[in-house]
Amino acid sequence: MKIQEADAKKLLLAQGLPVPAFEVARSPAEARAAASRLLHGHGSVGQVVIKAQVLVGGRGKAGGVKLAGSDDEAEHVADAILGMTIKGIPVRKVLVAPAADIVKEYYLAAVLDRAARRILLMGSAEGGVEIEQVAQSNPEAIVRIHADPLLGLRDWQAREMAFRLGLGAHLKAAVGVAKGLVKTMLAYDADLVEINPLAVVREGPGGAEERLVCLDAKITLDDSALFRHPDHEALRDPDDEAPADVEARRHDISFIHLDGTIGCMVNGAGLAMTTMDLVKRAGGEPANFLDIGGGAKADRVAAAMKLILDEPKVEAILVNIFGGITRGDEVAHGLIEARSRQSRDVPMVVRIVGTNAEEAAKLLEEARFETAASLDEAAAKAVAAAHAARASRAAAGGAG
Ligand code: GDP
Ligand code: MN
Repeated sequence: MKIQEADAKKLLLAQGLPVPAFEVARSPAEARAAASRLLHGHGSVGQVVIKAQVLVGGRGKAGGVKLAGSDDEAEHVADAILGMTIKGIPVRKVLVAPAADIVKEYYLAAVLDRAARRILLMGSAEGGVEIEQVAQSNPEAIVRIHADPLLGLRDWQAREMAFRLGLGAHLKAAVGVAKGLVKTMLAYDADLVEINPLAVVREGPGGAEERLVCLDAKITLDDSALFRHPDHEALRDPDDEAPADVEARRHDISFIHLDGTIGCMVNGAGLAMTTMDLVKRAGGEPANFLDIGGGAKADRVAAAMKLILDEPKVEAILVNIFGGITRGDEVAHGLIEARSRQSRDVPMVVRIVGTNAEEAAKLLEEARFETAASLDEAAAKAVAAAHAARASRAAAGGAG
């Protein structure tokens, strides 16, 4: 689960990391009031930064991070940002903070390295840039240090990171941040705690002092550990999740979008992977990974069908069910119900084996579903149906 920058910063503050003060505003008027407090209050600053709170990276490039020098300008800028949609997500909140006077930007993150079964601290002196980009263009620029699974990140490791990033002048602060990121990972069961940029900024009268601060924060919490942190549920932002993802979670369906045209509905993760492989071998491309899980009832099947059909690029659907705990006839009922309600007509091929397969076959035959006896056959039929659908659409388009 991804959480907003403002929530991530609260968690970092609670772990003692250096985060500049900030407020969250939901309207231009609220942003104006927050900016006014910063611009005219005690220890006032010359400018504020206003940042879109959406769960995507690259807000700066998209115009979602702007400076303002007056109350009026802050209100105006907040109004513009609150009217934006960034990478398909409408901005509903902004963060307002004193604008930092940046000397240099760094990248520092703690990530879960599953292969090494350790927390990996990754740093780069090329901050502000997305790390994937640095990894491609300049992989040597990324410093990687694994924390000890028992002892955590040792002081000498944190110092090594600081020196290798060229943060020797801010050694104590950099060590604090490095250790703090690992501590934050452990405290909240996070998968990722990323500061980009971690910045050296000028502060104090005339900008005479330099300080190291976390200017941005991104935290991803481990979904499987959410039960250990009931309070984190409040950080979930359903607005920022695609509606399909919310719907999938509500029905306990594992659902991942892919780029192809064959919608797949399968029970079991392994079977879903196999099904996707066979679709590819038959010359098609899967439109999704979808696991309805064990013991799915008709309503979950219908919900899964709706998730698949809501994706306009889906040209054919392959249903592959291996009945164990899941009963074939339940699935068949779900499919029949889903089809009666479905918004558009897409060819569907169904293969159901295992528990109550005979009952399922009878139901499907009565409802005139296309079925297949083997998975290879089902995949071939689904791919052929998708090709036929595309050809007939092209013909219709050509004629018109
Ligand atoms: P992201 O683009 O979504 O990662 O958002 P960031 O919070 O990282 O902001 C993007 C960029 O905006 C940063 O790399 C900085 O260069 C710039 N930026 C962010 N906050 C400030 C600030 O307070 N002052 C100045 N001058 N620039 C900022
Ligand atoms: Mn950033």
